[in-house]
Amino acid sequence: MRKYIFVAGGVMSGVGKGVATASIGKIIQSRGFRVTAMKIDPYVNVDAGTMNPTEHGEVFVLDDGTECDQDMGNYERFLNCDLSGANYMTTGSVYQAVINRERSMGYGGKCVEVVPHIPLEVIGKIERAAAKHRAEITIIEIGGTVGEYQNILFLEAVRMLKVKQPHDVLLVLVSYLPLQGSETPKSSAESGTTGQGELKTKPTQYAVRTLNSAGLQPDFILARAPAALDARRKEKIAFNCNLREEDIISAPNVESIYEIPVNFEKGSLSSLILGKLRVKPRRRNLRDWQTLIRFIRSARTPVKIGIVGKYFGSGEFILADSYISVIEAIKHAAHFWKRKPVIEWINSESFEKDNDKLKELSGYHGVIVPGGFGERGVEGKVSAIRYLREKKIPFLGLCYGMQLAVVEYARSVLKLDKAQTTEINQKTPHPVIDVMPEQKKNLAEKNYGATMRLGAYPAHLKAKSIAHMAYNKGQIANRKGQKRSRKPFAIRDLRISERHRHRYEVNPQYIARLEKKGLVFSGVSPDRRLMEIMELPREKHPFFVGTQFHPELKSRPLNPHPLFREFIKAAIARK
Ligand code: GLN
Repeated sequence: MRKYIFVAGGVMSGVGKGVATASIGKIIQSRGFRVTAMKIDPYVNVDAGTMNPTEHGEVFVLDDGTECDQDMGNYERFLNCDLSGANYMTTGSVYQAVINRERSMGYGGKCVEVVPHIPLEVIGKIERAAAKHRAEITIIEIGGTVGEYQNILFLEAVRMLKVKQPHDVLLVLVSYLPLQGSETPKSSAESGTTGQGELKTKPTQYAVRTLNSAGLQPDFILARAPAALDARRKEKIAFNCNLREEDIISAPNVESIYEIPVNFEKGSLSSLILGKLRVKPRRRNLRDWQTLIRFIRSARTPVKIGIVGKYFGSGEFILADSYISVIEAIKHAAHFWKRKPVIEWINSESFEKDNDKLKELSGYHGVIVPGGFGERGVEGKVSAIRYLREKKIPFLGLCYGMQLAVVEYARSVLKLDKAQTTEINQKTPHPVIDVMPEQKKNLAEKNYGATMRLGAYPAHLKAKSIAHMAYNKGQIANRKGQKRSRKPFAIRDLRISERHRHRYEVNPQYIARLEKKGLVFSGVSPDRRLMEIMELPREKHPFFVGTQFHPELKSRPLNPHPLFREFIKAAIARK
């Protein structure tokens, strides 16, 4: 069985199409089907690796090293699966594949044309991803909104596939209904739903017309809006967009994105979808997810976590999207401990202007210094890390955050006050963080795309370290049947696998000196050349841990990442 559900956007982007796609995947999976999810990005960029996070949000990394859109993270988190590069495409990657095939005579001397060869490549890629993941139902999100020039060829692919397999292809339009006139309240009988304004359906109607002109008719409309749809609005959309009222799904704002699958199932969306795909549901089981929601709702006591970064400013807005996986990982761990996560942004540059501001860090239960690139805000991060170390505030450093913790330690404890990463100063007398020889060539040749140390790499953990204890406990929690045993596994040499995205590493020439002064490298690569985790012993600090990899990428709502779990535990313990 090979069925396909396409998800396209109408009216405007940024209304949660990715989470809607992931939620549809989740509810279909809960009915007993093997599901996989794909993302199509309309950019010419071959992958997301070269995009600035303030432009496009976080760059997510898969096990195989694919640098992709943050929505792939949502799919992995909701479906609890590991995806691969087969699940991601951009306009750039599609054209690149077609051009490469043409160059190797793959079209047998034919004239290669934008239509049909580009949409055919898109379809081929979708079919290959479904086959690779043995998916019975594949959900494919098309980025951006219908009506954009750059979407046309992807919509054409949907049309062509639908012609070929009419009963195997569904199209869901995620649209947006603006709330108009909230300043001039109407009576609630007259208005949409809130009693203070009206949800407007016209932009959605236009979006459907646009789809119609591409030869497509949506099978469902997910009506994203600040409020729930009322009967009148449903009727209007259904009538004007050639659909039954039951195919218009209300998707109002929610407090936690993890509520969405449960909300969808209130109207039994999975049954409607499977009905249109002509398959019978095999079971119904969203129990684990419902328990999660109960946990989230009942958590009242706050745990306040600060994130010291720089990718916040985008005009007037704060783009939390730049750190979405970090935020979700904090939430998963906080929910695990039945705490309400309160996350605040701290611009590291503010510490450079005013040292006194560091005192504000004492107001947090714990502080994270996440990944980053380049010079801006770095000295502020180093000062913040020093403060957190000296004041014994729980600290988790992710990638750049770990590298800068090593810089700080070298400066303050080893007294190498000019210690620096060569990312910022190539002439520093103490390059404690340095680029690996194999990376030097890439930088010299400006060969930036997909050339970092990317994807899953193994690491060995030092016995008795915080890291070892954290991962070891995680294994116990995850092994069903072993739960009742009190004895932790006697795994001395614990091997883990985590996802990377960086060019710089701890310089091997400084390791012995750093260790001598008390820094512990508790996770190392199998050849012991690369330092993957650093920490301070518990006697010195309640929680001071940094990772060269990105643990946030593998945290799941029902299975928080062990290091985030222990970090939040330490944060809760802080008075
Ligand atoms: N800029 C650092 C490097 O390239 C860290 C990267 C990151 O934080 N993802 O090594």
